[in-house]
Amino acid sequence: MRSINILGSTGSIGTQALQIAALHPQRFQINALTAHRQADALFAQVRAFRPKMAGLTGMTAEEAQIPEDLRFCDWRFGPDALLCAARDVPCDDVLVSVVGMVGLPAVMAARQAGRRVLLANKEALVAGGQIVMAACQDGPDGPTLIPVDSEHSAIYQCLRAAAGNPYDKILLTASGGAFRDYTLEQLKGATLEKALTHPNWNMGAKITVDSASMFNKALEIIEARWLFDARPEQIQVVIHPQSIVHSMVQFRDGAVLAQLGSPDMRVPIAYAMAYPERIETDAPRVDFAALGKCTFFDVDPVRFPAIGMAYDALRAGGAACCMLNAANEEANAAFRAGRLGFMQIGDVVTETLARIGGLPAHTIEEVYAADAAARREAQDVMKKMTAE
Ligand code: MG
Repeated sequence: MRSINILGSTGSIGTQALQIAALHPQRFQINALTAHRQADALFAQVRAFRPKMAGLTGMTAEEAQIPEDLRFCDWRFGPDALLCAARDVPCDDVLVSVVGMVGLPAVMAARQAGRRVLLANKEALVAGGQIVMAACQDGPDGPTLIPVDSEHSAIYQCLRAAAGNPYDKILLTASGGAFRDYTLEQLKGATLEKALTHPNWNMGAKITVDSASMFNKALEIIEARWLFDARPEQIQVVIHPQSIVHSMVQFRDGAVLAQLGSPDMRVPIAYAMAYPERIETDAPRVDFAALGKCTFFDVDPVRFPAIGMAYDALRAGGAACCMLNAANEEANAAFRAGRLGFMQIGDVVTETLARIGGLPAHTIEEVYAADAAARREAQDVMKKMTAE
């Protein structure tokens, strides 16, 4: 039996993690659940899983109106609820499936308390990779950080199968998102509604827009750099529209290992939750004969400039990746609010990084300072851009 605290339990990853827990009640016990503002969904989860603690990070007690029958657990409100679930409520594993930079303090708090982190939040690694990895060295009981992002789970699984042999190259696959086949002109007028129709994966709004702009893949390049100690030139993005090959690793003899499966997040979530075992999931099986073919091609750097920005930020070092993430979070939110054009997302990130120049990221305080500076600058860039 492993006990798990889930941060962001009403989101896409959180709800699927609870489906897996429900399928294996003898294996997983849920000790804490947090959501942002989806109170009714959280109430239903608390009723079903009866955790010791539950929290609403974006609500007050008065707003939330906790029902009488749910007062058996310790309720927390506001941002501290996240840290309470990460650090203070005893458990084996913390699934960090919140969206955005708030994942960073949560990961650090969980590690401070000695928990194993199942990481579905990519911003923590993108912004504070060096600091997070230093806090997540393998312990006496094995790994202390297991990636949940499907591509990184795939790479992780391939490397486990490589018996300690070093890799030459990581081949990070990308579906290409909702706008894979759009022309540059079409991209300039791309709408939110269209951006949210992802061809393969069912995810939250922020990440689906990131997927359409390929900032999601840009963040994943940086994530892979830290998780697998890769040099930028060892990571190559390959467009693979079917999302069956979740990523690949190439070795010095030319052999390539890949991890395949249907595009269903329950597989990488279950892998992380049960590691090192594999457990039953309800994910559909791939029918290869029905699938027919898998195709692969290169990313177009003009239509999808985010990929180049990730490599530039990695090579720049310091807080560049943190600021790329912060500027993208701000621009992504502005696009979703209808205040920014789709192709302006990348412009905001480029302009923000150019304006600020280099900032250090040796300490967590420096990371937060760079994050805040980039958000302020991105807002100013957008104000000027939209006034034009
Ligand atoms: Mg991914």
